[in-house]
Amino acid sequence: MFAEVLTIGDELLTGHTVDSNSAYIAQRLTEKGYWVRRKTTVGDDVEEIKTVIREILSRKPSVLIISGGLGPTHDDVTMLAVAEALGRKLILREDCLKRIEEFYRELYEKGLIDDPKLNEARKKMAYLPEGAEPLKNTEGAAPGAYIEHEGVKIFVLPGMPREMKAMLENEVLPKLGERKFIQRKLLAEITDESKLAPILNETLKRFPVKIHSSPKGFGKYIGIILFGEDEESIEKAKKFMEEKGIRFEEGW
Ligand code: ATP
Ligand code: MG
Repeated sequence: MFAEVLTIGDELLTGHTVDSNSAYIAQRLTEKGYWVRRKTTVGDDVEEIKTVIREILSRKPSVLIISGGLGPTHDDVTMLAVAEALGRKLILREDCLKRIEEFYRELYEKGLIDDPKLNEARKKMAYLPEGAEPLKNTEGAAPGAYIEHEGVKIFVLPGMPREMKAMLENEVLPKLGERKFIQRKLLAEITDESKLAPILNETLKRFPVKIHSSPKGFGKYIGIILFGEDEESIEKAKKFMEEKGIRFEEGW
């Protein structure tokens, strides 16, 4: 099962904002047992977004998570681009409109804004691609969207990290099942990754695990993360490497 992540925003391309969303999403998907095969970033441009979505869909991931560009301003064009890429209409959702109205009314009652009324910009956020299920935004106005399209589960989330995280945790991850996936971090007492490489390759061939390795501790250790679906596979893989002469310490 593989997944892809698409982040959208001119500010990500200019480097004004560091794309922390894709790292967060990738981390949570990996913990759920998905293999994140690609992360892509494009600007706030309908044609660019459409092209990249079509490319991603042609690779047939199980899951595509998109983040950014759902706000009220003219440069937030993600929902339109998603709808066009999928050949669907953009539809005004009365349920979303009601929720957006409530959201601004609450801000008004708290004295945070001076006008609670819906205007065109606010109304814009209530448009979702036809057939989409709205995703609740507990931290902001714009709803997200969940669309099943030709076997791909597509989730469209806001760009504000606080809003994106809440929606991912509450609305997205529960829809991705309860598959157990385990990560175990080990420190290998070996300084030369090239010596470790053949042993890792052998381990990968024999056991249903994935392995990441990176140098740690000023050349004294190599940090290893073993990913697997059960403790037993991880334990067996670790034992096998120990038999090949690697000493491990737990955690890092
Ligand atoms: P909003 O309703 O808040 O406008 P939005 O979906 O339109 O939501 P954006 O306009 O894309 O969000 O971005 C809002 C803020 O979130 C900006 O300050 C932006 O820099 C930040 N942001 C957007 N995408 C990312 C990302 N991938 N990683 C980190 N921060 C991001
Ligand atoms: Mg934006």
